[in-house]
Amino acid sequence: MTTAAFTSSDDVVHYVAGQRFSGTSGRFQDVFHPASGQKGRRVALASTADVTQAVAAAQAAFPKWADTPPLRRARIMFKYLELLNQHQDELAAIITAEHGKVFTDAQGEVTRGIEIVEFACGIPELLKGEYTEQVSTNIDNWTMRQPLGVVAGITPFNFPVMVPMWMYPMAIASGNTFILKPSPTDPSASLFLADLFKEAGLPDGVFNVVQGDKEAVDALIENPDVKALSFVGSTPIANYIYERSAHFGKRVQALGGAKNHMVIMPDADIDKAVDALVGAAYGSAGERCMAISVAVLVGSAAERVMPALIEKTKSLKIKNGMELDAEMGPIVTSVAKNRISSYIQAGVDEGAKLLVDGRSFTVPGLENGFWLGGTLFDNVTPDMKIYKEEIFGPVLSCVRLDNFSQAVDLINAHEFGNGVACFTSDGNIAREFARRIQVGMVGINVPIPVPMAWHGFGGWKNSLFGDMHAYGREGVRFYTKQKSIMQRWPESISKGGEFVMPTIK
Ligand code: NAD
Repeated sequence: MTTAAFTSSDDVVHYVAGQRFSGTSGRFQDVFHPASGQKGRRVALASTADVTQAVAAAQAAFPKWADTPPLRRARIMFKYLELLNQHQDELAAIITAEHGKVFTDAQGEVTRGIEIVEFACGIPELLKGEYTEQVSTNIDNWTMRQPLGVVAGITPFNFPVMVPMWMYPMAIASGNTFILKPSPTDPSASLFLADLFKEAGLPDGVFNVVQGDKEAVDALIENPDVKALSFVGSTPIANYIYERSAHFGKRVQALGGAKNHMVIMPDADIDKAVDALVGAAYGSAGERCMAISVAVLVGSAAERVMPALIEKTKSLKIKNGMELDAEMGPIVTSVAKNRISSYIQAGVDEGAKLLVDGRSFTVPGLENGFWLGGTLFDNVTPDMKIYKEEIFGPVLSCVRLDNFSQAVDLINAHEFGNGVACFTSDGNIAREFARRIQVGMVGINVPIPVPMAWHGFGGWKNSLFGDMHAYGREGVRFYTKQKSIMQRWPESISKGGEFVMPTIK
């Protein structure tokens, strides 16, 4: 298989029961190449009937897949892992073409996704239950975890490979069948992932893809055969998915937006902190849910951070992501570019100090691309729109505070709680920060603390609706239900009914 099939003019369609499926809706959306601004392929937008067909295929495949021994499921995962490793760069190129992020960053995205598959290969161990012999005389009790049935994942544009992989490897290895509803903004990678899975020997109907928008999402929510939904995207939609899915009695985890702060204490290694900050703020054009969008400069740190920060923001290498020295690519769509630009204007209007303005940036020869330069504000205050709301672009806001306690209070008062970082050389500050901060993922001298595959990913507050984090052991628990079995064999059953609560004497 080559990427040619994924960069041709063919429409991006659905994938149901192991086959491409064009669907019946007749609705399509254009997919763009953000670096050039040119239209690429069209993506089909599923109708409710298309989704019903996909769910039926997944439902039909479920009993046999659930009955497949975990070791056999793991062997298919191992084969899939091998294929993903072989095709890593092709996947990264597909991401760069439709998302715009630089190729080296896209390679990193694919690697982080592959790590979840590596973890899912250990499913025989992960599914092991608990056993107590002789809970009472001649009685044993054990618990086991069984798959839910058909489960679905709805994913955002910003990680078209990694975020789906937070979900489906865990779900499928656990014995469920899966329907992926990717973002229509960069949908091609989903079919490449499906083709590799088929090549790995996954039975038809276990992994399905429906392309689409709200209609497809609502059809998944309302379909009684879909037992659980995982969502990653913006907070308003996460909230909607959570409430609506709960109404239909589904298990749901819905990861939302973010506003991630990085505190720089005066005792931090300032050079290293600035390097980390620039990468975390402008990498992937700030279109990461773990991007740093607020720098909290404590005391004298501000005066030492600002000159280097201005310099590095101005000298970012922003170009077509396929150029290997590119540090930042274009914005994903013209709509997103306009939204980010209007936030920059709002910052100016509210009185923040605009030190670097990326609005007029363009790349010679690619003037129709969706370009923005790195943008830097100083003297941002908590009442400003650019501080309160998620911008999701290459815009960094600096807030100056006097001391550590103010920094902790500021962050804890924010509605989002996805990721956070503190740069310091003081162990006690680091320890207090990690303990007191109301955020799900904390970095100490680490700017983007995305947990590894076996730890699980999830924010707090309005960054996650639901009880369980994505992937890791939490992922196995989310995609399985516990059953408790108590056994006693007939020869040991005493005669006559028992009418009181059994207790151990
Ligand atoms: P989005 O919320 O617009 O879209 C996410 C998914 O929801 C897509 O599949 C989309 O088709 C679908 N969708 C959009 N509108 C819908 C509607 N009205 N009803 C039902 N479904 C709808 O998000 P996006 O712009 O694709 O991604 C960026 C957002 O995702 C940012 O807010 C970012 O912080 C967030 N994100 C969060 C995490 C996390 O782990 N917390 C990770 C990645 C991205």
